[in-house]
Amino acid sequence: TKYVYDFAEGGRDLKDLLGGKGGNLAEMARLGLPVPPGFTITTDACRAFLRTGRAPYGLDDEIELHLERLEERAGRRFGDPADPLLVSVRSGAKFSMPGMMETILDVGLTDATVAGLAARTGDERFAQDCYRRLIQMYGRTVCGIPGDAFTGDSVERHKAIFREYTGHDFPQDPREQLDTAIRAVFTSWNSERAVLYRRQERIPSNLGTAVNVVAMVFGNLGADSGTGVAFTRDPATGERGVYGDYLANAQGEDVVAGIRNTMPLQDLEQRDKASYDELMSIMATLEEHYKDLCDIEFTIERGKLWMLQTRVGKRTAAAAFVIASQLVDEGLIDLDEALTRVTGTQLAQLMFPTFDFTGGPRRIGTGVAASPGAAVGVAVFDSKRAAEVAADGTPVILVRRETNPDDLPGMIAAQGILTSRGGKTSHAAVVARGMGKTCVCGATLDVELNEGDLVSIDGTAGAVYLGAVPVQPSPVVRYFEGELAPDADPLVRAVDRLLTHADKRRRLSVRANADTAADAARARRFGAQGIGLCRTEHMFLGARRTLVERLILARTAEQREAALAALLPLQRDDFTALLREMAGLPVTIRLIDPPLHEFLPPLEELAVRVARAEERGEDPGHDRDLLDAVHRLHEDNPMLGLRGVRLGLVIPGLFAMQVRAIAEAAARVPGSRAEIMVPLVGAVQELETVRAEAQRLLAEIGVAARIGTMIEVPRAALTAGEIARAADFFSFGTNDLTQMGWGFSRDDVEGAFFRQYFELGIFGVSPFESIDRDGVGRLIRIAVAEGRTAHPGLHIGVCGEHGGDPDSVHFFHEVGLDYVSCSPFRVPVARLEAGRAAV
Ligand code: ADP
Ligand code: MG
Ligand code: MG
Repeated sequence: TKYVYDFAEGGRDLKDLLGGKGGNLAEMARLGLPVPPGFTITTDACRAFLRTGRAPYGLDDEIELHLERLEERAGRRFGDPADPLLVSVRSGAKFSMPGMMETILDVGLTDATVAGLAARTGDERFAQDCYRRLIQMYGRTVCGIPGDAFTGDSVERHKAIFREYTGHDFPQDPREQLDTAIRAVFTSWNSERAVLYRRQERIPSNLGTAVNVVAMVFGNLGADSGTGVAFTRDPATGERGVYGDYLANAQGEDVVAGIRNTMPLQDLEQRDKASYDELMSIMATLEEHYKDLCDIEFTIERGKLWMLQTRVGKRTAAAAFVIASQLVDEGLIDLDEALTRVTGTQLAQLMFPTFDFTGGPRRIGTGVAASPGAAVGVAVFDSKRAAEVAADGTPVILVRRETNPDDLPGMIAAQGILTSRGGKTSHAAVVARGMGKTCVCGATLDVELNEGDLVSIDGTAGAVYLGAVPVQPSPVVRYFEGELAPDADPLVRAVDRLLTHADKRRRLSVRANADTAADAARARRFGAQGIGLCRTEHMFLGARRTLVERLILARTAEQREAALAALLPLQRDDFTALLREMAGLPVTIRLIDPPLHEFLPPLEELAVRVARAEERGEDPGHDRDLLDAVHRLHEDNPMLGLRGVRLGLVIPGLFAMQVRAIAEAAARVPGSRAEIMVPLVGAVQELETVRAEAQRLLAEIGVAARIGTMIEVPRAALTAGEIARAADFFSFGTNDLTQMGWGFSRDDVEGAFFRQYFELGIFGVSPFESIDRDGVGRLIRIAVAEGRTAHPGLHIGVCGEHGGDPDSVHFFHEVGLDYVSCSPFRVPVARLEAGRAAV
């Protein structure tokens, strides 16, 4: 194996082997840019070293050979007392891990060579400064001496400290310095902070780092020397211009360390116009070559410019969009390529309002950043109360230990949700994300909140503040809402342009999950091509609960029919409003899904009321009936119980009422395209029974509607070939399919064991957040294949949380679904990702 590459031999395509820094140094050298001579030791060598604790066979000879070549190119020799070559030994892995591993500068300085360096440069102080830096950096990195142990500023003092800590003298053999430095850089791959960083950034731990040995150039040789960093465009906004910092008379690390004040790069033009102009032209060359924003490190040694590093630079979400669009304008990339430069996650970030922190607000707590955004309101601890307080327009933050479906009205009324329990997949988090509402979960606070206290929560950072922190609305959302023109500013223009292109490219259509006309209207403004899921159970809450109670308590067919008859017009009006809003577009309405007891008061509350009434010698009447019903309907596993299609088959007239309401609404709204969806089907017979009755009703009322089913029970996926014969469409309910596929309850797992599962590496991301391709995804593949074989042209989509998750959208594209459906707020994200999946 070849372990060492000269810069002239490498290139950025060899990143795996040479790391990002090495690959890009070679790339710059090949472009003819002024890079000091050097070579790169491969990640292969590092992996071998980390495995065996020894340099692999042949490495030392190769280093010797490349060092000789380096000496030739640099025109001076390593260890030459008259005119020594010095080198830097720099880490650099495939993925950038800024500041996580080690770099040692000025390697090659000894008591013998330091005088030569002073003589050549005519600067004794400088030579001493370099030597001091070396002893300190080497001592820290190779020998583990704490950085702050080095006090005082003479070389003698530094050498004494070195001896004190290590029990031996600072090595006076340059080659020994070099070899031990290389090993130390290899070893720094496994430093504690590097390991932690990789875990956080999901960088594989077995890649290893390359090591770059680079001839030193000196920015600390007086006023006509210096060092700096620069970006080819503004990494915050994407604007073109000159962005960088420069520090005169300094060595590389001083800029980042922030010990001295840097000056803006523009000012270099006055100090050293020749170097400045050359730098500008090099940056243009780099952008032209990489066709992207680059960041660079450079050093000027006595008026001569040297390039020390470049890479495609990190940027904010806004800059990503602006830059991608600019590069198209500049003819460097086409629109397809531009789509690959932005992500749905970035777009989602741009849609949330942000806090303006200039007032320095008081932070009172930290929790899980569960649903991004910035929300301000008065703290209210009860959902009913939240709805009351919010009724007159007062902004509310709903503060709960945790939330459950009963809190929905409060959550809808609130600006944001703050809980003290649960994490990213808790009920509060999932529902808040669905609604595009800010949420911080599992928060601990330093102060006790009282109802009415003003609080501000930052769902992007997971922070809680006391008082009202000013909020800035997102211009991107204002554009979607039609409040800003598509060319309002560079960011909006870029988003509009890339989304338009994504729409042109994508094969998946994008629908929204929406239950109300208001949600539907917003979804439409955000680009939804229909409603993929209207949950009818949300229409049974609030005042209508009593009607559902009457249905449940009905003892005779007449009572039941009366309750259903009372519900019918309400449902019809709901559907009419929704269909009107979406006229011309498909609207998939799901028949009622949750277990009925969810509409009854909690058992304990009722039991207490009944007991109190009896104690007082009163007749608990209605409460007693309710309590009986709660007992009767009680299930140990309600999510696996009497719900979905089972409910429809067991409660006479319930589904029929809903179908009639849909049909009558559809008959009223010209251009409406209602679709009826049956939940929780596991066997074709269930669907056939419901379908037969629904078709009868549709025919009676004289409207046409497609009838399809959710695929959310594993058995449905596995018998999709049969079920397809009774279905006009499938919609994957990936929340339940994940829940039942894995056999764990979404509402309970988060606190219970997900943390350990992440730590054990059983999954890197929650399968409720991003589709589990191997398991649940396989069920989906099977159902798509067998469904389409049995029923060519079967229309297939997905309506779970995953429909708006960027990675999952790519999966749904791959398996050939027709559409994804997600919360209105996620619609633009899904549009973008569906486009990205298709290019
Ligand atoms: P990091 O990856 O942490 O940025 P680097 O390997 O880039 O570490 O080096 C740290 C600092 O030392 C940088 O500012 C870099 O520009 C500077 N540096 C590295 N090699 C040399 C060299 N041969 N001559 C002068 N400065 C150098
Ligand atoms: Mg660097
Ligand atoms: Mg479901």
